[in-house]
Amino acid sequence: MSSHLGTFRLLCRIVFSALLVLPAAVLAAGGVVKDPAGVAPDRYVYYPGTEALNKKEIRITACGTGMPAARHAQAATCFLVEFGNGEKHIYDIGTGSMANLAAYMIPMEYLDKIFLTHLHTDHMGDIDTIWAGGWTAGRPVGLKVWGPAGLHPELGTKAAMEGFLDFVAWDKETRSFQITPAPGEIEVHEFDYKIENQLVYENNGIEVRSIPAIHTGDGPVSYILRYEGMKVVVGGDTAPNRWFQKYAKDADLIIHESFMVPNDFVQWYNQPPQLAWRACCAFHTSGQAFGKIMSELEPGHAVAYHFLNEEATRYNLYEAIRETYDGPLSMATDNMVWNITPDGIEERMAAITHEAWSVPGPTRQSPPETGRRPVFSDFTNSGYWLPAYEAQNDAMDQHMEKYNLQDVDWRPGMMKMMSKDPVR
Ligand SMILES: [Zn+2]
Ligand SMILES: [Zn+2]
Repeated sequence: MSSHLGTFRLLCRIVFSALLVLPAAVLAAGGVVKDPAGVAPDRYVYYPGTEALNKKEIRITACGTGMPAARHAQAATCFLVEFGNGEKHIYDIGTGSMANLAAYMIPMEYLDKIFLTHLHTDHMGDIDTIWAGGWTAGRPVGLKVWGPAGLHPELGTKAAMEGFLDFVAWDKETRSFQITPAPGEIEVHEFDYKIENQLVYENNGIEVRSIPAIHTGDGPVSYILRYEGMKVVVGGDTAPNRWFQKYAKDADLIIHESFMVPNDFVQWYNQPPQLAWRACCAFHTSGQAFGKIMSELEPGHAVAYHFLNEEATRYNLYEAIRETYDGPLSMATDNMVWNITPDGIEERMAAITHEAWSVPGPTRQSPPETGRRPVFSDFTNSGYWLPAYEAQNDAMDQHMEKYNLQDVDWRPGMMKMMSKDPVR
């Protein structure tokens, strides 16, 4: 009996595995290659930077779907939402997610709006990377961060971002001196997490509202996005809660966390069993609970995330979800893409390069400011070793001539800053 059950489960897994590789939308999109030199007429994957959005379209890319212990296959939580009007929002920027974001071929100046669901590092851990990485890669402006207050002032988004800027004081000061200061600023929009269906952002036909969530402490929220008659819900970490049931109805797409089954936390994530069943099922949402929520809300498409998505674990969670939900479902992993239009939802995977570089945008960063307080002492200035500087002089001269930099040649000023008696 049990071996029959085992064989059946194995067969299910093989079939499900095949379906994961070829989801329904992709099967339907397939075209015929009519001769050996022909090209495939339809795209099976999304190539970042190659598809313009229609006005009535939203594209969401999962830039992070995993756990706090980020890994190559899955960064921690991050969803990039691109609207047909050109606006782009980042919902959470968990640890490791910037490497994915960077591969979507978007100029940094368009990646300046971040909405945080809560202040766990797996939802904001790469704030440093987008802050400094965007700054050095040409972002001309500072970041704007929306996020909830906490039960106490020091536990809110404003305090977190101020604390972050304290933490990076040396980075900020020295970068401001060498580059240009404006992109190092962070504009914080903190809001009360307790207000239901609160308008936290409105611009150019986009409306973002927050609803409270329940997760390890006061503060967390989920976001409800409306654009061109479409509704998308970006759920942050939460236990099943009544606000979600009340306000996430009639959505085209709902993104909601769904935690691995408790035993997988014990077996694969090194958690004691006492923590495992609380982690999945008390302050997060289990597969069965996720399914129950979706059965009730009946979204056009449901997206489960926040689990290790691999052979050892995905089927257990999938089966748990399917105990209570049989509607459209994505088991999210990094770089999964959803295109949402009034006509429906298409799920694909993005084909990303691992060697992405920064894509230039229309706005150039300002040149470095002059007159800032020095960041070098006489002690450090006495340490330069001149022969190496002299060795690069010819190359510097060539660069100066190519770009007409004669007026801003840094070398005479630097020589002046150096010790009167430099080491030779
Ligand atoms: Zn959390
Ligand atoms: Zn989390």
